[in-house]
Amino acid sequence: MDQSDSNEIVGPRRYRNAEAMLAHGERVWLRAADSGLLNIQVDHESNDRLIVRDSGHEFTLLCSCSYLGLNHHPKIIEGAVSALRKAGTTGLSIAEVRVRLNLLVELEESLRDLYGAPALPGVSCSVLTAGILPLIASGHIGGGSGPRVMVFDRFCHFSMAYIKPICGDEALVLNCPHNDLNYLEDICKKYPRVAYVADGAYSMGGRTALEGLIELQDRYGLFLYFDDSHALSIEGPHGEGYVRSRMEMNPLTMIVGSLAKAFGASGGVAMLGSERDFQFLYRNAGPVTWSQNMDVAAVGACLASAELHRTAELGQLQAKLQRNIDVFDRRFPTRFSGNGLPIRLIDVGDEDLAVRLSEQLYQAGYYCSAVFFPIVARGAAGVRVMLRADLEADRLDHFCDAVESLMASA
Ligand SMILES: *Cc1c(COP(=O)(O)O)cnc(C)c1O
Repeated sequence: MDQSDSNEIVGPRRYRNAEAMLAHGERVWLRAADSGLLNIQVDHESNDRLIVRDSGHEFTLLCSCSYLGLNHHPKIIEGAVSALRKAGTTGLSIAEVRVRLNLLVELEESLRDLYGAPALPGVSCSVLTAGILPLIASGHIGGGSGPRVMVFDRFCHFSMAYIKPICGDEALVLNCPHNDLNYLEDICKKYPRVAYVADGAYSMGGRTALEGLIELQDRYGLFLYFDDSHALSIEGPHGEGYVRSRMEMNPLTMIVGSLAKAFGASGGVAMLGSERDFQFLYRNAGPVTWSQNMDVAAVGACLASAELHRTAELGQLQAKLQRNIDVFDRRFPTRFSGNGLPIRLIDVGDEDLAVRLSEQLYQAGYYCSAVFFPIVARGAAGVRVMLRADLEADRLDHFCDAVESLMASA
């Protein structure tokens, strides 16, 4: 093939380049596979006790986003089962914007009450993001008219970065250095309509620069889109998450989150800044419109979890999680110590050592993942640990001992 042919065929690759992505990503995956850390097939006893059927190997999950342990709560499981019995159908198989079960409407109302905002349920957080971000870029959400410059935080989750090409077909897309408010303010000065896309709590640790962002919103009318999946349920009196528990909703703000993490069910939710957006998104937000919404079992599980979020048990679980985080922080101080979030990185530095530590920990009965470039910077490899409320105290102590002795002998 000559050069002119290939130039015609290769896309502009402005926001996506599978070739470059796979060159890094596949190497990492294959390495993890070689180390026996992928495709582990288990039966579930508890999050502390997963059992590999063939070998009988048992291990504790230290990389689960079920931070409150609600994924095995009897009330939530019963909620899923009884919803199916009550509805007597797995679903109506028609777009929910046209006809939807009262059970789903009950969930819409329950989430609205819980989060103090119109709340749109979705089949997943990723699907909500895929449907909503392009409409923020085109300027059809948040009032006024005309497209918005879309500024993505460099660390924002894959589910948002993945939608850049679609946003880029509507508006200018820019990448912002992590939490860089000066960069963002310059963009706000330069362009009349800007949106910032970020995580509330980041999956590699740390938080968004919320106070400064609210100031920029006040000053420039900046639209704020937060994915608070990692803080939902674990923060706030009703588990509203980091962002919602610290800011009032307004038409220039939207918060999405996964209901399959600490919430302990499945699906996603978008907390909306205006009533109008609720019906508008049901009609126009891409897969929200044309694809299925949450299935009946998921709706039942979510209803039961939302109920549980209204009881004292939520606060007790949040406190238990906090205690486990504190225990870990005392044993392994890191730059995120004391930030209250459950994601920690044990710094190792060298990536081979990080992989080895992860393998050795798995053999010792703990699954936590080695992370290295391009997930983190070169030379900053480590083992990611995610703490849970239902992690038994002696398991945690024993885990910390194991890490300590393995690192000492490395
Ligand atoms: C896990 C995660 C998602 C994906 O959530 P789904 O509901 O499974 O689509 C999205 N955003 C962030 C920040 C996440 O951590």
